[in-house]
Amino acid sequence: MVSGIGVVSPGADELLSVEGVGSGYGSMQVLWDVSLRVGRGEGVLLLGANGAGKTTLLKAISGLLPLRSGAIRLDGASIDRLRADQRVQRGAGVMTEQGVFPTLSVEDNLRLGAYTLPRGSVGTVMKDVYQLFPELFGRRRDAVGSLSGGQRKLVAVAKALMCRPQLLIMDEPSAGLSPRYVKEVLAQLVEVRQRGLSLLVAEQNVAFLELADRVYVLEGGRVRFEGTVSALEGNQAVREAFFGLGGP
Ligand code: ATP
Repeated sequence: MVSGIGVVSPGADELLSVEGVGSGYGSMQVLWDVSLRVGRGEGVLLLGANGAGKTTLLKAISGLLPLRSGAIRLDGASIDRLRADQRVQRGAGVMTEQGVFPTLSVEDNLRLGAYTLPRGSVGTVMKDVYQLFPELFGRRRDAVGSLSGGQRKLVAVAKALMCRPQLLIMDEPSAGLSPRYVKEVLAQLVEVRQRGLSLLVAEQNVAFLELADRVYVLEGGRVRFEGTVSALEGNQAVREAFFGLGGP
């Protein structure tokens, strides 16, 4: 593994820690000894080509796929034996587009996202989320299926924020979006990030480096590079191998 300069060592500010994780499907092992961490308030980007294992790793972290080896801790506590909903309750929110119902209104979708919250606090959290996404407030009574691709993506993000996560996990937020909407969604995520939320984002679109403090590059289910964004930018071998990016 190539290591970047200025990598923060694990400590009290660690929110998520993944240690030596192996996982996969049936007879196929996809992840091999993967270790990763996300600090409090940190933005971490998971890069890698198609099939590198990004989605598999996010599934293992969010409780949709059992571990074959290794450990996962959130906020200092072991979570690898918890169900997916229990991990959400502990603060690991997951953005999924599949979890957004196109025939329901924006507001009903947001309400569904708050399933881990006490009923009394849903209104306050929804107000906060609308403040962050005023565009969605204007469309709150509309069916999600009638919104643009970019707005639908924002509904998925907003829905995940409704459970008040400490960490927001996203699998390819740019998927299916035109460059214009990628820009729009990215700008909103930068704002979410500025509020101190930790992010773990799997992406193939390098524009998302804007969100990141540190980057992991997966290859064949193993961590190939770990480091700061500037270390990645300075690492020509990784840039060329993974992103077809030449010199500076
Ligand atoms: P992509 O960006 O294409 O989704 P990825 O980095 O997220 O790529 P994964 O989806 O994690 O990669 O896939 C890693 C490997 O696991 C691939 O070889 C893929 O074919 C395999 N795989 C993914 N999902 C399943 C599944 N449900 N059953 C069996 N194999 C799977």
